[in-house]
Amino acid sequence: MTVYVTGHKNPDTDSVTAAIAYAELLKANGQDAIASMQGAMNPETETVLKRFDMAAPEIMTDAAGKTVALVDHSDLNQAPDNINADNVVAIVDHHKIGDVTTNNPIFCCVKPVGCTGTVLKQLYDTEGVAVDPKVAGLMLSAILSDTVNFKSPTCTDEDKKAVAELKEIASVTDTDELFMDMLKAKSSVDGVPAKDLLNRDYKDFDMNGNKVGCGQLELATLDQVAAIRDDLYKAMEEQKAAGGHHTILLMLTDVVKEGTDLVVLSDDPSLVEGAFDGKLEGNSMWVDGMMSRKKQTVPNMQKAFGC
Ligand code: MG
Ligand code: MG
Ligand code: MG
Repeated sequence: MTVYVTGHKNPDTDSVTAAIAYAELLKANGQDAIASMQGAMNPETETVLKRFDMAAPEIMTDAAGKTVALVDHSDLNQAPDNINADNVVAIVDHHKIGDVTTNNPIFCCVKPVGCTGTVLKQLYDTEGVAVDPKVAGLMLSAILSDTVNFKSPTCTDEDKKAVAELKEIASVTDTDELFMDMLKAKSSVDGVPAKDLLNRDYKDFDMNGNKVGCGQLELATLDQVAAIRDDLYKAMEEQKAAGGHHTILLMLTDVVKEGTDLVVLSDDPSLVEGAFDGKLEGNSMWVDGMMSRKKQTVPNMQKAFGC
């Protein structure tokens, strides 16, 4: 039996590297496992795999007939198409429990930490399996990415401990340099169509029957997108019209200033203003300290929708 290990749709660095790391752990335990991802890698992930000289996982978007392990998600709408609950054998994640329901007991390890890479490091330790140095580099990169170099409110002491241990294994001396290298790749917008930028790190949510989309662009400075704001807004309008959303948000996150310029397209803009206790200027508002979609943007919106 071959287990396809896969992260979520619109794969980010954690999704891709966690698939590799968990597949390696399963293989170390005698399982036949294949790391996969549900689409092309983003530029940050490409940079990371290149840096640590690792091959990209294979692309797998249809899970029909396949045995699957889910990493970095447990929501059906983020899982591969045609997934069969009977064929999900494991979940390793750091998000809220999603709606994947199984008919049999499965291996499930979900912890409230900043990154799946941290959960995986602990699993390797628990099972007494040594982490390959290249794989350690990937897991390290994922933790720095997901925790925004420890600045995200999702970051925990467990993430910092995992980074301290993984950097030794991977022989990485300067994690700040690694993070800036990723940030440069991730935040590059040159020549990228607005639609692709909106969807670079984008998720849809159901909030009390309302479809709410939220994308995030992590930037070294807002100047990077100054010239393409109109294009981004137009891409949001097209996506909202096609998807029937109540609201689409685009978080333009300034990683250095530690805040987000939140671009809002909504049937009820005042609801969004209320959610963040802010006032729109044009179609956006600066929300100081907003770094995490998962921990800040989504919960505030859910509260505003009475979820
Ligand atoms: Mg992720
Ligand atoms: Mg993650
Ligand atoms: Mg992420």
